[in-house]
Amino acid sequence: MGGTFDPIHYGHLVAAEGARYSFNLEKVFFIPAGNPPHKPDHIVSGSPVRYKMTCLAVASNPYFYSSPMEIERPGPSYTIDTVRTMMRLHPDKRIYFITGADAILEIFTWKDSRILLSMCNFVAATRPGYCLTALNEKLDSLPNEFKQNISFMEAPALAISSTDIRRRVREGKPIKYLLPESVEDYILENNLYQ
Ligand code: NAP
Repeated sequence: MGGTFDPIHYGHLVAAEGARYSFNLEKVFFIPAGNPPHKPDHIVSGSPVRYKMTCLAVASNPYFYSSPMEIERPGPSYTIDTVRTMMRLHPDKRIYFITGADAILEIFTWKDSRILLSMCNFVAATRPGYCLTALNEKLDSLPNEFKQNISFMEAPALAISSTDIRRRVREGKPIKYLLPESVEDYILENNLYQ
């Protein structure tokens, strides 16, 4: 499960649990992006902070783990490097890369995207009301062997978004029930997103 997780919220957690069930996954590793290559001008919370929130969020699910592999790897966080590492660490396992459908829409801009698409399965979690047309049009240009590696999964809880949570904190609005209490406490105690 890849994402910036700034912050992680119930949408991510429900999507991951849905993917675990639907694809019969043994474990789900949440891997916060260390240095997102596609966001050079964006202000993203520091990676230790995002990693800490991810650890807090996954603590209560025995199938969920968090991994610092991207935040510990120097340089931009390319998914192909992460998938290669996961394949090396788990040579006998099939790897699924779960993330948001909006992110997958941009997959052709990612490093070595065609090689990446041939290496593992992708699960694109869609927000309510997500229009699949744009993504399907992009994928139409792909050979079948790549297309079959991408699955879509509706995730109604993705009505929650990190952007909205950050805005709510800034505006002094409640974020309760949008994310685990431990993460909420961490955000408030550390004055994040003010
Ligand atoms: P993003 O641009 O921050 O997010 C795009 C959209 O996808 C947002 O609506 C976001 O919602 C949603 N999203 C992100 N992660 C999600 C998840 N795990 N489950 C459900 N929805 C999710 O995307 P990002 O988080 O930076 O990137 C997503 C993943 O793609 C990361 O693992 C990143 O490393 C990888 N990626 C790799 C490359 C590359 O290799 N060159 C380039 C771009 C992205 P929220 O804001 O609510 O999360």
